Amino acid sequence: MNSIAENLKQIQNTISNEVTLVAVSKTKPVSDLMEAYDAGQRIFGENKIQEMTQKWEEMPKDIVWHMIGHVQTNKVKYMAPYVHTIHAVDSLKLLKEINRQAIKNNREINCLIQIKIAEEDSKFGLHETDAISLLNSEEVQQLTNVKIKGLMGMATFTSDETQIKTEFGRIQSLFKKLKTTFSEFDTLSIGMSGDYKIAIECNSTMVRIGSSIFGVRNYTT
Ligand SMILES: *Cc1c(COP(=O)(O)O)cnc(C)c1O
Repeated sequence: MNSIAENLKQIQNTISNEVTLVAVSKTKPVSDLMEAYDAGQRIFGENKIQEMTQKWEEMPKDIVWHMIGHVQTNKVKYMAPYVHTIHAVDSLKLLKEINRQAIKNNREINCLIQIKIAEEDSKFGLHETDAISLLNSEEVQQLTNVKIKGLMGMATFTSDETQIKTEFGRIQSLFKKLKTTFSEFDTLSIGMSGDYKIAIECNSTMVRIGSSIFGVRNYTT
């Protein structure tokens, strides 16, 4: 089995410098994250606020933390002092709370709007038309301390590459279209361990990779 440092290097070698690698470290112990940190990785992604906050407290302060999971409005306050980017934003209510907490902490927080691109029903995210109206709404334009930097999506978990391409293709064209209106748009967060190569073909600018770096996750412990 390869070490975490070796895995990281292998992945870095297959992606260009223009693609940002978020190392998805959910469920993994701080010692594993530190191995990645010592190999030069600074951007980490977590999907639970409590777990991320604990790791933030214990780990070096030059780490850039990304929340990639679904966020409950009442928990935003716990990560507002330090979180860099929130990937799965899908409502005005959540955006307003992120803005409120960002103001309290005298910071700006980057957000990505999650788009529903998968066929399967279980995934969170907005339909294209709802995302467009949200972005264009006056209330969103008035939020001073959130920066909406782009879109995030998850393809169906399948080995059917054609389907994955179709789903990533949808978010790719929406991103391209919105970029012409929203000048701050520079991030398209698509691609995980199993599909990041396809995502990069679809102009991903940010991949979120967990198991290919840290090994499979064990949810029973
Ligand atoms: C867990 C997770 C990932 C990483 O998944 P891997 O298949 O382990 O690379 C990426 N994005 C989100 C939203 C996740 O929850």
